[in-house]
Amino acid sequence: MSAEELKEKLFKKPSTGWESLEEARRTDLFNYAEGYINYLNKSKTEREIVKTSKEMAESKGFRDIKDYESLQPGDKVYYINREKSMYLAIIGENNIEDGINIIGAHADSPRLDLKPNPLYEDTGLAYLKTHYYGGIKKYQWTTIPLAIHGVIVKPNGEKIEVKIGEDEADPIFTITDLLPHLATEQMERKLKEGVKGEDLNLLIGSMPYGDGKVQESVKLNVLNILNEKYGITEMDFVSSELELVPAFKARNMGLDNSMVSAYGQDDKVCVYTSLTALLDLENPKTTAVCIISDKEEIGSMGNTGMESHVFDTFISEILNKLGVNRPNLLDKVFCNSRMLSADVDAGYDPIYASVYEKNNSGYLGRGIGLNKYTGARGKSGASDANAEFVAKIRNIFETAGVKYEVAELGRVDVGGGGTIAYILANKGVDVIDCGVPVLSMHAPYEVTSKFDVYEAYRGYGAFWRS
Ligand code: MN
Ligand code: MN
Repeated sequence: MSAEELKEKLFKKPSTGWESLEEARRTDLFNYAEGYINYLNKSKTEREIVKTSKEMAESKGFRDIKDYESLQPGDKVYYINREKSMYLAIIGENNIEDGINIIGAHADSPRLDLKPNPLYEDTGLAYLKTHYYGGIKKYQWTTIPLAIHGVIVKPNGEKIEVKIGEDEADPIFTITDLLPHLATEQMERKLKEGVKGEDLNLLIGSMPYGDGKVQESVKLNVLNILNEKYGITEMDFVSSELELVPAFKARNMGLDNSMVSAYGQDDKVCVYTSLTALLDLENPKTTAVCIISDKEEIGSMGNTGMESHVFDTFISEILNKLGVNRPNLLDKVFCNSRMLSADVDAGYDPIYASVYEKNNSGYLGRGIGLNKYTGARGKSGASDANAEFVAKIRNIFETAGVKYEVAELGRVDVGGGGTIAYILANKGVDVIDCGVPVLSMHAPYEVTSKFDVYEAYRGYGAFWRS
């Protein structure tokens, strides 16, 4: 055998997926990306993702699990947890005791939340104070158009939905930054201190109420506008959840249209790809479960985060309604289950090549990325997938012709990260991280490759059909 032949036989063959893409699939891929872009433009917060996903699921025959007296194979159910997280399932033909196939992504994305007492006036300008949510580079959030999304809940329970800055007729908001002419001191600071957390104040008004003779008349004018529009007073901010998100739209990117630029692709890209894969699934052998979780970006805590026991309660409810539940069955089901922790991976960025290790990076256009482990500093905090399970997933993807790559998050000791993988792994589930590589992750505008988005959809579907 010649050296060339031997090399062909033994070496891995890293390549992008575009080269070998058939014409028919290319059309499907671009159509699919259009649906993805529309989904992102409809839903920028976890509440909006849950709302949109519920509509999509219901149109495909999913119903709230509470509406079922009992469950049969083929039944499609969902459970919504406080409007912020959601679980969906299609009951499989196999005995549920042999485990379920879970794919779990998260709907929350880094952003700026309003403080409970946000509104103030300074020198004739009205501002809203913010507290950032998740890992952001603060300077990236100044001088971009921002929209306000969320809810204000009055003491009587009345809930007012707020969304300002998305409609072309709406105003937008922005956080100002210092002009370079006067930024000598600021420019000397470390990048992470260039813009400080308490400087992230949203400019929302500059016009006084009436003749401006009363104190804080600009703040008064802003409150009057809010009162006329929503019937709220300043005190109502304390029981609100208002999130500032970039006002720009998800768009096709690149002269070749090969990429998507959008806010919140971490991790809405995995939510959309797993959700649509589930909605296209009929009569799986193994019960298929889709998780849309919340609070991943701040540690998965709280009753809508993955650390809560609400997911266990959902699976218990399925066991109850299948009429099979008994003591410890839930634990047994988890120990026999498999999961793809669907979360984005750092895409290799040649501009910042020094933080990546070339042989173990996720590259745009090479398909869905598997991360055997995440963590930081010697895999600390990682859920390290077992080799047997990695082999199983490889087999599923290779059999279905799904293009995938295996990577880790950056060079050793450069940094690190985590996902919800460890939470399910702690219950005994076999888990591996599996998602789409992203450029500019956690920035107001993130970039993905349409090829990878489509392979994620195909890969998730193949997992559930296996
Ligand atoms: Mn994520
Ligand atoms: Mn993230």
